[in-house]
Amino acid sequence: MRLMKSLGVCALMVSVAACTTSPTGRSQLLMMNDQELDQMGAQAFQQYQQELPSVNGAPLEYVQCITRNIVAVLPPEERDQNWQVKVFKSDDANAFALPGGYVGVNTGLLKVATNQDQVATVIGHEIGHVLAHHANERASTQGLTQLGMSVGGSLLGAGGGAGSDAAMAAMGMGAQYGILLPFSRSHESEADTIGLDLMANAGFDPRASIDLWHNMAASGGGQPPEWMSTHPSNSGRISGLEAHMSEAMALYQQAQAAGRVPQCKAPSA
Ligand SMILES: [Zn+2]
Repeated sequence: MRLMKSLGVCALMVSVAACTTSPTGRSQLLMMNDQELDQMGAQAFQQYQQELPSVNGAPLEYVQCITRNIVAVLPPEERDQNWQVKVFKSDDANAFALPGGYVGVNTGLLKVATNQDQVATVIGHEIGHVLAHHANERASTQGLTQLGMSVGGSLLGAGGGAGSDAAMAAMGMGAQYGILLPFSRSHESEADTIGLDLMANAGFDPRASIDLWHNMAASGGGQPPEWMSTHPSNSGRISGLEAHMSEAMALYQQAQAAGRVPQCKAPSA
């Protein structure tokens, strides 16, 4: 029922919005254009930098190395963006990637993710959200919900980017941070799958994703970070990763055969 409804909306909105499919073949409604999303990403990245102190030196070089290896296997459009990486001093084991090419990793994550492959699991997951346009989809869906079909209908008469402008206004643009970062369960599962393929393709061992989950469960306490939030359960997520593991292992072996063998040096402290 819900699917039928969203397909109907897709058909109706086709002149102002892009109905497309995600990298895993799910149909999506995307109302905002890439420039708008990139701008929101840039602003959210600024907000992070105002709220948390940055760390340079070995931790930054480590995260930059891992990110660079993953970015190298992205589709050209995303690969050729000017990716910026920051390491933030925070005990929350969190990380994010934002539209426009921004990656942030907290020092707390580097304590839970104990080698390059585990860190690559989280960065792959976060970049998976960006590749699958989850922020756009989330913002578009919210915009539609708030605008309602009557306004949606009137958007049909407007040309160009007017639809997405209206959607942005309706959402209240002060809250980029809130719009860009929380994702739904289906988005999380999809980011897991995409992330696993990305890390493996970059030459990071996808089996480390399972270790990371065990580490995180063992570390306990605190707010669940983005990459493990809104999930039915840890075990559900681990079985999702395991279901996709043989495909990821094949990619990993191909990457090794092709000489993609990242050696990112972990900071000693
Ligand atoms: Zn996520």
